[in-house]
Amino acid sequence: MRNKILIVEDEDSIRKFVKINLERAGFEVIEADTGEKGVELARKENLDIVVLDIMLPGIDGFQVCKILRDEFPSLGIIMLTAKSQDIDKIMGLEYGTDDYMTKPFNPMELVLRVKSLARRMENTEDTNDSILEFGPFKIDKYSRRFFKGGEELDLTPTEFSIAKLFMESPGKAFKRDEILNTVWGYDFVGDSKIVDVNIRRLRSKIENDPSNPYYIETIWGMGYRWRKKD
Ligand code: CA
Repeated sequence: MRNKILIVEDEDSIRKFVKINLERAGFEVIEADTGEKGVELARKENLDIVVLDIMLPGIDGFQVCKILRDEFPSLGIIMLTAKSQDIDKIMGLEYGTDDYMTKPFNPMELVLRVKSLARRMENTEDTNDSILEFGPFKIDKYSRRFFKGGEELDLTPTEFSIAKLFMESPGKAFKRDEILNTVWGYDFVGDSKIVDVNIRRLRSKIENDPSNPYYIETIWGMGYRWRKKD
């Protein structure tokens, strides 16, 4: 595993601390102290994951996230936030963040989350047997590409992992916690709202009518299910 991480944070002490901890865990880490520099580095370097603070001088983390998502759909993004309003904003608006952490945080926990995201992005599939087809959808687990009606759709690492989980078990009812544990890969402290947010975004990309979803069914009070019959 050689994953390249960019940390965008203007507070030197936090940035250095995170960098040291991620490097100890075996990651290659580069740093930026403004959003503008972060975007510039993302365009130059071949990054895997960005750890992105929201409160930054100049353009803030939300704007950086939007730019990065537009340009690099498959980049992993973990946002750092100090305020609960920011979490609401992350959840309410479709920034496409893979995970988030609230300050102050334990750096070891951040390392765990980065590792979990890196695992999610890793290709562990065999070239054989890597294609799943279902209705208009085709997923190539090996190259981590997703198609609808022959057209490739840009999914974030998390959206892809959820789509893969569903397509491997069509018709299966998944509890939110089950999706959380399988996709995020650890017991996510907090709430399963991040599952709902990612499902909503996935629907907006793959459903014909996202406000009236067909492929991803909601099971009220429980979770979600990929419709078995097309
Ligand atoms: Ca900051």
